[in-house]
Amino acid sequence: MAKKINNYCKQPKMPVRVFNKNVSKNRAAYILSNGTRWVNGTQIKYMFFSGATAQKNIVRRAFEIWANLGIGISFIEVNKRADSMVRIAFDHSDGSWSYVGREILKIGKNEKTMNFGWDLTADAYGMTTALHEIGHTLGLQHEHQSPFSGITWDTEKVYKQFAGEPNNWTKSETHSNIIEKLSANKVLGSSWDPKSIMEYEFEAGLILKPVKYKNGIYPPGILSANDIKGIKKIYPKIKASAVKKVDHKSTVSINVTSGNQSDFLFVAPESKTYTFETKGDLDTVMVIHEKGEKENYYLAGDDDSGVEKNAKITLPLIKGKKYLVNIRALYAPKNKKGTLSIK
Ligand SMILES: [Zn+2]
Repeated sequence: MAKKINNYCKQPKMPVRVFNKNVSKNRAAYILSNGTRWVNGTQIKYMFFSGATAQKNIVRRAFEIWANLGIGISFIEVNKRADSMVRIAFDHSDGSWSYVGREILKIGKNEKTMNFGWDLTADAYGMTTALHEIGHTLGLQHEHQSPFSGITWDTEKVYKQFAGEPNNWTKSETHSNIIEKLSANKVLGSSWDPKSIMEYEFEAGLILKPVKYKNGIYPPGILSANDIKGIKKIYPKIKASAVKKVDHKSTVSINVTSGNQSDFLFVAPESKTYTFETKGDLDTVMVIHEKGEKENYYLAGDDDSGVEKNAKITLPLIKGKKYLVNIRALYAPKNKKGTLSIK
């Protein structure tokens, strides 16, 4: 009997963002490469459009497994579309996929951002699939498409296999999900991990080089040591000692370089509406969370990248409560400073 061929994740194509003429190539490249990452500290809100409880429970468990690694990102299930960032469906006519990182925020609230195209409860591959799709949600790309993988494919064999059951992919779907190498600024890591949860299984004969993979790649289907190390590097747990206190009616400098983050804590002196605003020539994403005892609650976010404006969030806060303000500079020109002010 021939070995059963897996169902594979098939990623949707996102249009490449086009910038205004005044945005330099260098600046645009930084915004694109840093822009898929979530601001560290973000509580990602997910909801289910549909699905049986047993299917949903696998996905819930997979979110927990990622969160329990001790990363700066947390997840919470919500019921309202308006509150959601990640929207999950179980449409078996649509394959399994997820948009990548903060690209998700560009998707309309009535559309799903993640789909599961097969029964997740059938076998262990269900959990593998859930962990993999959440990996995309966190900003990870397919490992075999890493520019660092150096895989040479037997392209005709690859096209032929994926055109068959159970995937039935077109040539262009196989090209964009397997053959095509991603540009270095689209991937968050810097080396290839064949054991990664973001790596597909490939049977013998599809890979010509490296020669050691001629007999195939068989990732274990769980988070690899490098997945764990890598995600903790991308989203380290934010240390309380690294969070600067900032007062009402004050302005503090944001000491960031492109891709890095500044983290602030604000205690509301009274219940009223406050405005948080960045100033300077930085391209930033700012998010605000209420700090809870055990977890933080996402309140709002603003992205000012690629345009000549600053990140600005106005919202009502409650006296005595603590709020975290996390700002990632997607691009910071050399020798320029930015500030955060609270009014
Ligand atoms: Zn995938």
